[in-house]
Amino acid sequence: MKNISFEAQLLHIPYEKPDIYHALSMPVYHAVAYEFETAEAMEEAFCGRTKDHCYSRITNPTVQYFEDRVRSVTDALSVTALNSGMAAISNTFLTLAYAGSNIVTSPHLFGNTYSFLKNTLAALGVEARFCDLTNPEEVRARIDEHTCAIFLETITNPQMEIADLKALSGIGQAAGVPLIADSTVVPFPFFRARAYGVDIELISSTKYLSGGATGLGGLIIDYGSFDWSRSPVLKSWCGTEGKEAFTSRMRREVHRNVGAYLTPQAAYMQTLGMETLKLRFMQQATTCLELAQSLQETKGIVAVNHTGLEDNPFHAISQKQFGSYPGAMLTFDLSSRQACFSFLNKLKLIRRATNLFDNKSLIIHPASTIYGNFTEDIRQIMHVKQQTIRLSVGLEQRDDLLDDITRALA
Ligand SMILES: *Cc1c(COP(=O)(O)O)cnc(C)c1O
Repeated sequence: MKNISFEAQLLHIPYEKPDIYHALSMPVYHAVAYEFETAEAMEEAFCGRTKDHCYSRITNPTVQYFEDRVRSVTDALSVTALNSGMAAISNTFLTLAYAGSNIVTSPHLFGNTYSFLKNTLAALGVEARFCDLTNPEEVRARIDEHTCAIFLETITNPQMEIADLKALSGIGQAAGVPLIADSTVVPFPFFRARAYGVDIELISSTKYLSGGATGLGGLIIDYGSFDWSRSPVLKSWCGTEGKEAFTSRMRREVHRNVGAYLTPQAAYMQTLGMETLKLRFMQQATTCLELAQSLQETKGIVAVNHTGLEDNPFHAISQKQFGSYPGAMLTFDLSSRQACFSFLNKLKLIRRATNLFDNKSLIIHPASTIYGNFTEDIRQIMHVKQQTIRLSVGLEQRDDLLDDITRALA
């Protein structure tokens, strides 16, 4: 069907096999293993010549249905659902990187992603090359023949920096380097990764997709757009796998060995959560922009950072890549760390908690928590300031949140 809406497409994606009870929602197949009629059928399945499920660390019908829904609405080549956003990130780089290779990225990254690249991968001989991704010349200069990826977060958290994806994709294409993007802050259908040249999109489905913090999850979305014969570690997979070289190595080797597949229960909840993704995103992102505008006029707030604001330095690129409502996260600065702590302690409605895009509004002081174990020097390189507070806007009305904030500032 052409011109079908996101919702209509998503809601009516058929199951791999008809349900024998005609269940209207995909059942939770809480099974570890699957039985075979014959030894021959078993051999075919285990050797990957048929698509039958063997063992739920590798595939599971309920998880696969969630993957199918994401694949269908993103028009991707393949989708893999892992049990956290970090599992999606680590599986991706364990598939692409090799000792002696490097990843060109920014120091403006989610705390664990930064630590994974800087510490975990460094121990395996992979270098994280931090640079300013908003400066294409700098990116071009940092790439060499051992660069295995350009990696970025589409809107960095908590700095809210936005790089020009088409510019970076062009540099990657010319150099034979894939563009990998973590788009958790503005997921599909509000951001069309493929149209901006992203080869592999990563999403923490814990956030918007889960339907209100119902469980952890992560997605690897492979658009099939990169020529993997240009990757030293995937070249040998290209002969038989072609465009699927990345997905094949990841699914048949790394994913099985690491063992971080999504659980069927979480897949069920995220499948359901995805059904209301658009509604919740629009509501939360609209409230977030309205609140950001109000906070700019609020006494005691030194600065407000949200790329939907017209005076934001990334406003134009934000509009172009993400439209008028670039997500439900904003940050604001108070006069000092002490002012932040006393403000946080006085809030009555907004919850002091980490996580993003729960149905409830959540607030945190990033420098002392997510980035609390980094040294002040590293925090400065990352532009994580002691005066900054991060707010994830939930489904409450703007005035509920504004009242709580103004009362706590008084
Ligand atoms: C939360 C988050 C992650 C990590 O996801 P988990 O599901 O918590 O493992 C990665 N990237 C971004 C941008 C995030 O917000």
